[in-house]
Amino acid sequence: MPRPSLFALLGSACAALLLCAWPASVAADTSGITIAGPPPPLVPLPKDRPYELRVLHLVDPRLPTLTADQRRALHTRIEVLLQSWYGYTVTLREVGVRDLAANFAASEAVFARHADLLQLDIDPATGPGRARLRATVRAALARHPLPLIATHLQSGPLTSQAQAVELAFNRFLSRLKELQSIPVANGEPFSIPSQRRLNSYAHWCAHNYDQAEADFIFTNSMIVGADAEMPLYVIARGGVSAGNTNGNLHNAFHATGMVSLFPFLSDAPFWLRERGPLPEAERLDVVATLALHELGHFFLRLAEASDHPHCVHVAPPGFRFLEWHRAIREHGPCPLPHPTVTSY
Ligand SMILES: [Zn+2]
Ligand SMILES: [Zn+2]
Repeated sequence: MPRPSLFALLGSACAALLLCAWPASVAADTSGITIAGPPPPLVPLPKDRPYELRVLHLVDPRLPTLTADQRRALHTRIEVLLQSWYGYTVTLREVGVRDLAANFAASEAVFARHADLLQLDIDPATGPGRARLRATVRAALARHPLPLIATHLQSGPLTSQAQAVELAFNRFLSRLKELQSIPVANGEPFSIPSQRRLNSYAHWCAHNYDQAEADFIFTNSMIVGADAEMPLYVIARGGVSAGNTNGNLHNAFHATGMVSLFPFLSDAPFWLRERGPLPEAERLDVVATLALHELGHFFLRLAEASDHPHCVHVAPPGFRFLEWHRAIREHGPCPLPHPTVTSY
């Protein structure tokens, strides 16, 4: 989920702690968009002033979506959480509800500017793609102890890294295939090969990095697929990033947040099995808790936490969003210290 792409401010790579030079392609940009230059090191945003977040909703008409009333209710709940949990006075102002595919089609210049970044995408249908995926899984798992890997894979005890990599690799491929095949309202599968970039992490990072209209984006679709910088929890889910926060070249926050709504709004059998049913009365609150996680990266400049109990700054393992949300709300703000980042 919430993976802060700890990179984008420094260059066109969408990954945690990958330090790149400021991309020459941006410095040489001739599109007419004003590029202010590399943003300064991030610091937590001060709480002594009000903020306005420009919110854009990008809609795939084949998928369940929020009504205008639900969008307003969601925005209000997030405003309340930002005040009561973080102490920020924030107004969410909706600036548009647009067609996702049309929005991406209008972003060709952005994708062209960030062609290097798009190379992070992996196509696991090809032999070289599968080899790169396996190397990605191996590198991601090597950063974690076996018990934590077992928690994310919900696998029971693991005996070696090699066993964990094999399990995670196969789990990833089977989950991804299942996710991409979820039937949607018009009878198509969720993922159409010709439109796969609508779900590509790298494309979303490029899109949000060069986002001039909005500070926070909801889509009723989702980020799902393989890329070369997936962390453990994204691999375990089959490539789903429920949310993301990355740099922004244009706004005063130097950040764009986003949340994928499909994992919360769809009650397809896959979700009922892996996530469980979401009570209607809590559905928007679960989304608001995930948005609060992203806005912790956004306002407080927090890094991803991994070992705090009931902490909103820890990404939910798997798709157990409801349990994650309830435990967080029940226990209140986490009292433990949270490291910050100076770039996403
Ligand atoms: Zn996160
Ligand atoms: Zn914590």
